[in-house]
Amino acid sequence: ITPVAKLEPVPVGGVMVSSASMFNEDFIKDKDIRIGDTVVVGRAGDVIPYISDIIYDDRTGEEQPVKFPTHCPVCDSELVRAEEEAAWRCVNSACPAQVFERILHFVSKDAMDISGLGKAIVERFIFKEEWIKSILDIYDLPYDEIRELEGFGEKSVEKLINSIENSKSRLAYRLLFGLGIRYVGETTARNLAEEVHCIEDLKDWDIEKLLTVNDIGPKVAQSVYNYFQQEENIETILTLKNKYGVNTCTDKQQKSDVEGDGKLAGATLLFTGSLQQMARHEAKEMVEANGGKVASALSSKVDYLVVGEEPGSKVDKAKKLGTVKIITEDDFLKMIAD
Ligand SMILES: [Zn+2]
Repeated sequence: ITPVAKLEPVPVGGVMVSSASMFNEDFIKDKDIRIGDTVVVGRAGDVIPYISDIIYDDRTGEEQPVKFPTHCPVCDSELVRAEEEAAWRCVNSACPAQVFERILHFVSKDAMDISGLGKAIVERFIFKEEWIKSILDIYDLPYDEIRELEGFGEKSVEKLINSIENSKSRLAYRLLFGLGIRYVGETTARNLAEEVHCIEDLKDWDIEKLLTVNDIGPKVAQSVYNYFQQEENIETILTLKNKYGVNTCTDKQQKSDVEGDGKLAGATLLFTGSLQQMARHEAKEMVEANGGKVASALSSKVDYLVVGEEPGSKVDKAKKLGTVKIITEDDFLKMIAD
């Protein structure tokens, strides 16, 4: 919870400022900031306005002391202040404000990269429609109702569905990163994922074992350990995997490609039929430039079959295999586009 002061609008460095940060409760207490005070506003790094001083001489006696909230303004659960921390936090993991931050992180570009779930849409689905209460709900959205929403054309619903579908085949470390485990950044997630077959296997790791992983210190190890000791977290991962088909495993192919950051990293593609927008060799170059591989024949190792005009029997074979995603040339171009 970050306290923000509401100000009478004032120009600061050419910008009108009407609110300013007060950082935390101690800051308010130390400066004895009161409601109705005349204040001096500064801008940290010329971006975030904050209260730098109080003009005590301007006080009329009408100013009211600030009562710091004891409960979360969003979910009303009691706020907690950890030892040696200045911030009061809401620790209710089901708090919509927290769910919001978690979901934004989960769908972000470096995590699951679900571009159809922009900030405004996530906000709407959580606070207004109340469709998203956890990560799992992303994979169980009521598309029929979404189609009825104002501002949602068929096209944006398709985009939403596609980006959610595509997120299911992300490399495992991106899911691990996306789960938002405290202190687990992208690099830590990569290092951890490389050590396991599937990320849910981390439930069997103790702190000692976690400490053997590259770049993992006691603080991170403890945090990862705590996360994987919680039954509901394991359940979330397994539900993502078993019910919604989200990839949680790091196979050898992916391991070798983890270094590459291409959009097709770890994926194997096969082209069939005549391509309209590129030559075969160009298509192959595009795949390789994006970290993917082009297969020479159809097998269960193929992730995507890109279908051009007049495709042969490969499409039927791919359907029989059931594990191959059949996509158009346009889909392919979209996959590697920014
Ligand atoms: Zn809350």
